Amino acid sequence: MSVAAIVVAAGQGERFGGPKQFAVLDHDSVTGHSVRASRSVADRVILVVPANYQGHGEGADVVVTGGLTRAASVRAGLGECGDVDVVVVHDAARPMATSSLFQAVVDAVLAGADGAIPGIAITDTVKRIVRNGDVDVVSETLARDELVAVQTPQAFRRELLEEAHATSDDATDDAALVEAIGGRIVIVAGEIDNVKITVPGDLSKASAIGMKR
Ligand code: C5P
Repeated sequence: MSVAAIVVAAGQGERFGGPKQFAVLDHDSVTGHSVRASRSVADRVILVVPANYQGHGEGADVVVTGGLTRAASVRAGLGECGDVDVVVVHDAARPMATSSLFQAVVDAVLAGADGAIPGIAITDTVKRIVRNGDVDVVSETLARDELVAVQTPQAFRRELLEEAHATSDDATDDAALVEAIGGRIVIVAGEIDNVKITVPGDLSKASAIGMKR
């Protein structure tokens, strides 16, 4: 079974105040950490970067320019995957995902799932809201034991991921596109330390996680 990894790093990092994925974290870029972890399961690592990228590839095998949305960036990477069996998609902005997590999602696909994604139980109560004038009003309280917060890396059968991207346009993760065409996505145990770098303070959180490993 052959595996390719797509590391998407083409965002503008608006909440961070710049491309967070190229900030330095413990002697490497945030993206460099993500590429290294992806390599643990993939024969080929494709890095998707912004049009103005001036780096040297962060250790990836192939570097391509992304698009305006995350899904468009994944599609740019998919074009470089060749005919591998399994594709793993990872957000560059999650530098602390472990190689065991990559292995767990790939193993679940090899065991027969169409896709596998890390999920974490939700500890907060989650409510649906509606905007009423200038006030948010609760319309429903969701059943917490039926919800998970999901992360990347996400693994898929390549052919199904390609079909999902060919038939749908945008979503905040790839699993949503595969779900939309009827794919069976299974949840593996996510990692609490698999933080997403979103605001500058997240870099010191990630660094502290690295130190305790
Ligand atoms: O914006 P968000 O944090 O959800 O982005 C998740 C990942 O997708 C980041 O690593 C970001 O660089 C990437 N991305 C991308 N192309 C875009 C938007 C986001 O590769 N157009």
